[in-house]
Amino acid sequence: MISTKLNRSTLNQSVLVLNTNYTPMDICTAKRAICLFYNEKVDILESYSEFIHSPSVKLPLPSIVKLKDFVRNQKMDVILTRRNLLVRDNHQCQYCETKKGPLTIDHVMPKNRGGGDAWENLVAACQTCNRTKGSRTPEEAKMVLKRYPKKPNKIHYFQQFIHEKQGAWRPYLFLESF
Ligand SMILES: [Zn+2]
Repeated sequence: MISTKLNRSTLNQSVLVLNTNYTPMDICTAKRAICLFYNEKVDILESYSEFIHSPSVKLPLPSIVKLKDFVRNQKMDVILTRRNLLVRDNHQCQYCETKKGPLTIDHVMPKNRGGGDAWENLVAACQTCNRTKGSRTPEEAKMVLKRYPKKPNKIHYFQQFIHEKQGAWRPYLFLESF
């Protein structure tokens, strides 16, 4: 249905998903948002400047969609994954602040000393810092964390997906008034 001329990055653009009451729910890819739209699960509220062409339809690439059916008990936890952790830490080593990859995940309190896999105990670290720190705490290694690792708030997490093209998201994520 969708033109294959569209490159993958277009269909992978982030789309903000809102509940029926405009509460931010999730972020999905444009590809997923288009599927939801064709299955009549969402309305498109805002679009990017690009269009999706099929033989019969010219559809603006969605940027914000709103569910048609209210979702109850919405979970406001951000799932702990490597990708989400890197987003929280701004793809930056939390010790030396380099953004040069590849980044690893460091256990602040080392795993072999009881440190768990938790938002509060994991940080992005470059390979050099991770190796230097070894199985020591930051204090023992005399390394200073850029910031204390915390469980991200979902709204704050969504805000990190806003770049130049996502200006329309700002009011929905409490960054400015409508
Ligand atoms: Zn580093």
